[in-house]
Amino acid sequence: MTTDIRLETELRYVKGVGPAFALRLEKLGLKTVRDLLWHFPSRYEDFSKIANIVDLVPGEAATIQGVIQEIKILRSFRKKMFIIQATVVDATGSVRATWFNQKFLVAMLKKGMVINLAGKVSLGKAGIGFSHPSYEIVGFSEDDEQFMEDAAEYREEIEACKHTGRLVPIYPETKGVTSKGLRFLIKPLLDGLEYIPETLPEEMLKRADVTELNDALRLIHYPEIMKDVLRARRRFAFEDIFYLQLVNILERSRLAKENAYACVAEGSRFAELLAQLPFELTDAQQEVMREVSGDLARPHPMNRLLQGDVGSGKTIVAVLAAIIAADAGRQASFMAPTEILATQHYHTFKKIFGNFEKGVVLLTASGAKVFFGEGLESEMKKADAVKKLATGEIKIAIGTHALIQKGVVFSDLALVVIDEQHRFGVKQRQALAGHTKALSLSKGKRDGGLLPHFLSMSATPIPRTLSLTLFGDLDVSIIGELPKGRKDIITKIVPPASRTDAYAFIRGQVKKGRQVFVICPRIEKTEEDETKGSPPTGGWFAVDTKTVKEEYDKLSKKIFPDMRVAMLHGKLKSEEKAEVMKKMKKGEIDVLVATSVIEVGVDIPNATIMMIEGADRFGLAQLYQFKGRVGRGEHQSFCLLFTDSSAQPTKDRLEALVHAKNGFELAEKDLALRGPGEFMGQSQTGLPDLAMRSLQDLKLVKSAREAAESVLEKDPDLAEHPQLKDVVARFHDRVHLE
Ligand code: ADP
Ligand code: MG
Repeated sequence: MTTDIRLETELRYVKGVGPAFALRLEKLGLKTVRDLLWHFPSRYEDFSKIANIVDLVPGEAATIQGVIQEIKILRSFRKKMFIIQATVVDATGSVRATWFNQKFLVAMLKKGMVINLAGKVSLGKAGIGFSHPSYEIVGFSEDDEQFMEDAAEYREEIEACKHTGRLVPIYPETKGVTSKGLRFLIKPLLDGLEYIPETLPEEMLKRADVTELNDALRLIHYPEIMKDVLRARRRFAFEDIFYLQLVNILERSRLAKENAYACVAEGSRFAELLAQLPFELTDAQQEVMREVSGDLARPHPMNRLLQGDVGSGKTIVAVLAAIIAADAGRQASFMAPTEILATQHYHTFKKIFGNFEKGVVLLTASGAKVFFGEGLESEMKKADAVKKLATGEIKIAIGTHALIQKGVVFSDLALVVIDEQHRFGVKQRQALAGHTKALSLSKGKRDGGLLPHFLSMSATPIPRTLSLTLFGDLDVSIIGELPKGRKDIITKIVPPASRTDAYAFIRGQVKKGRQVFVICPRIEKTEEDETKGSPPTGGWFAVDTKTVKEEYDKLSKKIFPDMRVAMLHGKLKSEEKAEVMKKMKKGEIDVLVATSVIEVGVDIPNATIMMIEGADRFGLAQLYQFKGRVGRGEHQSFCLLFTDSSAQPTKDRLEALVHAKNGFELAEKDLALRGPGEFMGQSQTGLPDLAMRSLQDLKLVKSAREAAESVLEKDPDLAEHPQLKDVVARFHDRVHLE
């Protein structure tokens, strides 16, 4: 390998990479030498434990080493496929290895060679064997004269892949690019490359106990033992998290320099508001109120995430904040992910602050409704409501996405609240941020580019490591307690055999005047369900997937014909949905069969049973949200989880829901069960895999944070770190959530 290979060199100029192969590599996103070296193995096969052939057990993974006694190529009876068959023997027995359509193997693997085979052991007609095993050429059997002659030809290959007795990297692959191919490519590159300049300061490496770049690259591709892999991974994860932290801290200081309306709440006014509440704020709510009102009073934008368990009372915090903004003569917008929820917030507002005269509008896809104090509520044309927001005549807007549609403009927007922020995608959050910026820009000409204060709320608790990283540019407030008098919700996994008992139990609750939710995974059956049958994953498409329509029929006609059963799902018109929710609130419905439309936020204190069909089909966070729909009033509540699945992962998840004391504990558990990637949704973060997986490592996260802080302390604009500045700019675009 020549020394003129650099990290920036395009792979098609690398020895051994033809134009066709270069194209295939591009499919993996690999264009340059750097891309290739940073294409990390996803796992490693352990070739270090070599088994005797006689000890192989069908169904188990194993590695053997033996001599190729015979290798031949066959054609399948339809002549469409080549089958390569090798018989490999060691001192204890023989196995057959089979590969399909890999004709080149007969040119490469010759009788007499010593090879390693690794894979799952199968049992076929011809006895024990390997189907499509990984293989490594180890050498030649000494007594094979003929092949000793050819050895020179293969020597290079043998040298290049001395993987015997250690870990072999397995890479993310694509058609025509195998791990083996990548190994052949990477090894000489790594050997031939000159020293790659370290990207992190040496002192930082020492302090954080992080491996140097060149060492880490070698260790990750060619580890001797698993510990090497962990060290290498730690380095790369540290680096990415460090960049992320730089982005976060820079974002914070950027925001701190922006201007916002200072909205100060007078003490007496505050007392007046609190006196109107039908309850006393919990200590946690008071504490959060202090934080939020403190932020609002400052002339720089708040950027705060409010986390609190389902039912902990976040809404009232947002409502009070909105009133503080309105009292200061400014405007607030309060956005929720569903119309049901937005409507509920509007009603909460009206119920508690019936004398509020500064104008509240409920703005959704289906229309607008405004409220100007006692008895002064009316439907309004959307266009008119929008106009009144633009002139500032209406101070508070509550609504759905309708609030961020084109044409909705505020005159003095001082506060933006997003409820259930995790329900909004990155795109929507960006739209909101963009919108917010556009607002401030359009106003900017008049009053100096003010940004609104920003409060996002979530009942899906974000584990601490994640809030330190992915949300590291936000201040976090936590409502860590529920209002007094709430009883624990009794949660049970109900096996199919106990269904009748469960129905009897529900009947008893309804007789006592309580209400019930029944959640189904789907609205109705689709054709797919009928034709697909059940896949190995436990059957999302299984024919028995419970649907709202069928369960509604069954419950209303057969099981509870004497009760008031209704259904609610996304295909109903907005007015129909609103009507059902109204009836449910008034207690005119006993059993409500619904989809996940009621997942977030819905507040019906008289509902005491949450029955979930196909509980295995929902994520833990979602189940927890369902559960949070009950236990909101004075009565003992129950959450019944129905599942036909007996798979262990399902059991683990449902058990976690049964036992978790609160949402945070559950979130930690969920994070542990699924890993941060799935927990957050990979697309939500844009973080590289390795970093994503390491977000659980609090120590690593903290040391990356400290490293970032210490760099910025000495060099706040990264003026002396141009290279870091570049990386951060790229990173910012990729990962920034808001
Ligand atoms: P979440 O945090 O899940 O959004 P909500 O704001 O919907 O919770 O509040 C849940 C219920 O608790 C509502 O009925 C609300 O009126 C009630 N609530 C809120 N704060 C208190 C409190 N301090 N004491 C008693 N009830 C409260
Ligand atoms: Mg809520």
